[in-house]
Amino acid sequence: MKVEIDGTLCSGHGRCFVLAEDVYRLDDEGYNADRDSIIEVVPGHEAAAELGMRNCPEGAIATVDD
Ligand code: SF4
Repeated sequence: MKVEIDGTLCSGHGRCFVLAEDVYRLDDEGYNADRDSIIEVVPGHEAAAELGMRNCPEGAIATVDD
């Protein structure tokens, strides 16, 4: 599973990290540290990745087809 973080939408709420700290990282300002990137979700962390994705207030996280 891969997810993409849209840097134009990410507004630094940090909810992705709060809900799935094994998947998402924040930078020093509270933005997703992987914005404008595609990240590979470690197997077993798919549910957490989806939880963080669904709860992003900006809809900045989306799955990417392999
Ligand atoms: S929850 Fe969404 S808007 Fe907030 S830091 Fe994560 S990706 Fe960015």
